[in-house]
Amino acid sequence: MAISRHQRFAKVALELAKAATHDVTHQLCALVVCKTRVLSVGYNQPKTHPISKDTMMQQLHAEMSAVLRCPDTAVEGAEVVVVRLKPSGKPGLARPCSVCETILRRFGIKRVFYTINCDTPEDPQIEEMHL
Ligand SMILES: [Zn+2]
Repeated sequence: MAISRHQRFAKVALELAKAATHDVTHQLCALVVCKTRVLSVGYNQPKTHPISKDTMMQQLHAEMSAVLRCPDTAVEGAEVVVVRLKPSGKPGLARPCSVCETILRRFGIKRVFYTINCDTPEDPQIEEMHL
């Protein structure tokens, strides 16, 4: 079976995650996509600014970083694809947390595709979440 458009984006994101800096244990990468285009890319990052010590979140999550970098997330049909690359090199569960869910919804994102645990990075398994 041919892989879907969203699986193809997930493969791209896994490659980007692999190439990213590894100052985090699990590398996450998120793409804001529209049809066949990638509008922006985000990674999870440890927060280094002192103000972040007061917040609940220890990291800037990948999907949040991606929408913040996207010039116009409100374009019709914009979606988010988020992947987790485990230290083993395999895809892991990247379901957005409730904070990201709320923020993505606020940015006009209606559908998110995320990887689930699987042994085949070349054929990543994804699930869909409606916001
Ligand atoms: Zn999150």
